[in-house]
Amino acid sequence: MDFSLTEEQTMLKDLVTRFVQDELLPLESTVLAREASGGGMAITDGERAKIDARAKELGLYGLDAPEEYSGSDLPTTTMVGVWEELSKTCVDYHFPPDSPNLRMLMQVCNEEQREKYLKPYARGELISSIGISEPGGGGDPAAMKTRAIEDGDDYVINGRKIWIGKAGYSDFTILMASTDPEKGARGGITAFLVDKGTPGFNVARKIPMIAGRFTYEIAIDDLRLPKTAVLGEIGNGYGPMQLRLSVRRVQMAAWACGKTRRALDMMREWVNQRRTFGSLLAEKQAIQWWIADAETKLHACRLMIYNTATKIDNGEQARTECSMIKVFATELAWEAIDHAMQSFGAMGMTKELPLQLMANHIRLMRIYEGPSEVHRMVIARNALKGRVVGL
Ligand SMILES: Cc1cc2nc3c(=O)[nH]c(=O)nc-3n(C[C@H](O)[C@H](O)[C@H](O)COP(=O)(O)OP(=O)(O)OC[C@H]3O[C@@H](n4cnc5c(N)ncnc54)[C@H](O)[C@@H]3O)c2cc1C
Repeated sequence: MDFSLTEEQTMLKDLVTRFVQDELLPLESTVLAREASGGGMAITDGERAKIDARAKELGLYGLDAPEEYSGSDLPTTTMVGVWEELSKTCVDYHFPPDSPNLRMLMQVCNEEQREKYLKPYARGELISSIGISEPGGGGDPAAMKTRAIEDGDDYVINGRKIWIGKAGYSDFTILMASTDPEKGARGGITAFLVDKGTPGFNVARKIPMIAGRFTYEIAIDDLRLPKTAVLGEIGNGYGPMQLRLSVRRVQMAAWACGKTRRALDMMREWVNQRRTFGSLLAEKQAIQWWIADAETKLHACRLMIYNTATKIDNGEQARTECSMIKVFATELAWEAIDHAMQSFGAMGMTKELPLQLMANHIRLMRIYEGPSEVHRMVIARNALKGRVVGL
């Protein structure tokens, strides 16, 4: 059993490490000041254009997009290292396209949709969002109430979506709706492609979240879509949506590892120079145990993530594994960043260090793509049926 990264994976990881150092870390203090003054933590269009140009130049666009759409077709196992490195800063930047929606589109787009959505999306020319959650509940998407009713050659959709990232400005939204409430997740949920500005798809409000982020609430009032807007098969939207969620969960676990690593690196530098009560913080057992436990869990977490990514690359669903790593990694990062903040004393409570923004980002991650409790429920349900996870 070989646990080492390939030469290609190591080279790419190193390239992304340098990219983060050269392009993203220099922006960190600007982003922190912007967020501290209430301006949110997103980078500006001008900042993004410069970073995008450099990423393109280095061949970092479309890393996991198919080669036929100008991508590099890299497997999830290789993307893990990229995601981990990219998240070692609070500057929120991701190489286009966003992998989860890309994988969903790749799985179910028809020829026409490939041309209109998938190809430009894979080239990083379009921004997408996905509307699953509703005011009545997000943790249990099978119970969604947004209803699509067939009307001649069209579907007419009514309902409400909430907490949708990017929905206020994305070029298109993958909208999940119930086409058969009786069947629910087993044949009753359909995915639709909705272009920006389509009448009936109304951005009701922009919601400020912690970590300087925003989500959107969408009012869907008599949204009329042609049947050609159906993504995949009628009633069979739940499976491809789950694949999308699985990819995001691996990605989030890798992000959490990157943030844990950054917090531990900051902490190491600090405790090796700060003296209290006649000795370095690094010499106190309380601090050493925080570091020992976090390093041990980080190592375990990475092994779980690479194992899960390997299963996904081999065509397995690995849904329980995705639940496990999402919970484990986000809770590890939350604890490690908290300990790093504690070791910095009052300095750790400032908005001048990136730690608080990283912590709040992780806090969000314990909710989105499924709260920890729901993932624990999934793990327990399977375990109670004797379906245990192995290598
Ligand atoms: C920053 C952010 C971005 C998001 N982006 C998107 C997006 O782009 N698209 C989208 O569709 N959604 C998005 N969401 C929504 C997100 O996926 C949901 O918020 C999440 O699934 C939880 O749904 P809910 O908020 O309705 O909580 P509920 O489902 O109402 O759950 C509330 C709480 O109840 C507890 N709970 C729920 N079920 C159980 C259980 N079975 N056992 C024990 N406890 C339980 C948990 O503690 C949970 O946190 C985003 C959310 C956030 C915070």
